[in-house]
Amino acid sequence: MSPYADLNVPTRTLLGPGPSGVHPRVLHALAYPPIGHLDPQFIALMNEVQDLLRYVFETENPLTIPVSGTGSAGMEAALCNFIEPGDSVLVGVNGYFGERICEMAGRYGAEVRRLERPWGEVFTLDEIEDALRAKPAKLVALVHAETSTGALQPLDGVADLVHRYGGLLLVDCVTSLGGVPVQVDARKIDIAYSGTQKCLSCPPGLAPLTVGPRALEALRSRRSKVANWYLDLTLVGNYWGGSRTYHHTAPINMNYALREALRLVQEEGLEARYARHRRHAELLWAGLEEMDLALHVAPEHRLPTLTTVRVPAGVDEAAVRKALLDRYNIEIGGGLGALKGQVWRIGLMGHSSSLQNVTLLLAALRELLGR
Ligand SMILES: *Cc1c(COP(=O)(O)O)cnc(C)c1O
Repeated sequence: MSPYADLNVPTRTLLGPGPSGVHPRVLHALAYPPIGHLDPQFIALMNEVQDLLRYVFETENPLTIPVSGTGSAGMEAALCNFIEPGDSVLVGVNGYFGERICEMAGRYGAEVRRLERPWGEVFTLDEIEDALRAKPAKLVALVHAETSTGALQPLDGVADLVHRYGGLLLVDCVTSLGGVPVQVDARKIDIAYSGTQKCLSCPPGLAPLTVGPRALEALRSRRSKVANWYLDLTLVGNYWGGSRTYHHTAPINMNYALREALRLVQEEGLEARYARHRRHAELLWAGLEEMDLALHVAPEHRLPTLTTVRVPAGVDEAAVRKALLDRYNIEIGGGLGALKGQVWRIGLMGHSSSLQNVTLLLAALRELLGR
């Protein structure tokens, strides 16, 4: 007899910074029995997952894989493989995840330089160029969709600029992939990573990653071994492509789930999916503003997948989130880091981005705030 009760998990409406709601087809895929990680059927599935990831990243990059681990494992893989001790790394810091990139890059011996902006703002091409002119960087890292602030970093022209100064462009796409266009090849992004539980609407556990030709060349010409064995892309790449040499056991069922989640993206189509995210975000913004709530990010830099709302004076922000959860089964997020206590974070990601969820949340907030 176990003293513990049967697992009893409530069904929530997930409208926070992630995880997002998961489609029943994805949950169903997760429940198939595991097969061997070198089983020919699983190898065929690995190839399909890679093809599907190329579709959503909009890339032809052969090295496109789901890293085992959450988005932060993708971040770690994107950094440790391209940093050697003493390398200069320029990081755009305008939120919590830019800070995390600095923290990780420093641990691999990088000489980290911070390009800073207040939380909620984005970087211009000129600012990035000024920083590179002052001192070139081997790697320039930007967060495409800052989940801590709700700002969308424009990427057009950034790669050309970074390449002109001899560097590689690394982009965190955790809260953009599958929700807003990432366009790895068209934008010449060298390294991009994401997570499964945000706009791809899969449970957390895998980190899609893609590496372009310039970055692959940099990986091949390293002077030192990658300082992280588990995430060494040369070793991991030999398991996902080429010789299929055992490196670590792929999380089998998570790959079933990711395949199904990506198939749902493909069925909907990228353009339709981006339009759906934008349409529902605009409805949410209009509804919040109608209630006299202020949005933290300027309209032109607003992220459709995550909205930051200023907490009105005199309102207990944590109490509102608790009431949303207790009374309406809705999860939204609180502020993080510099915005702690100042904003709510509302995610409309993947399967969670629906008219029904926007309507429900606006009605619940109207009631709770008495507006
Ligand atoms: C969520 C997130 C991460 C980290 O992903 P985990 O899955 O929590 O490890 C990294 N970057 C951004 C922008 C994120 O939103």
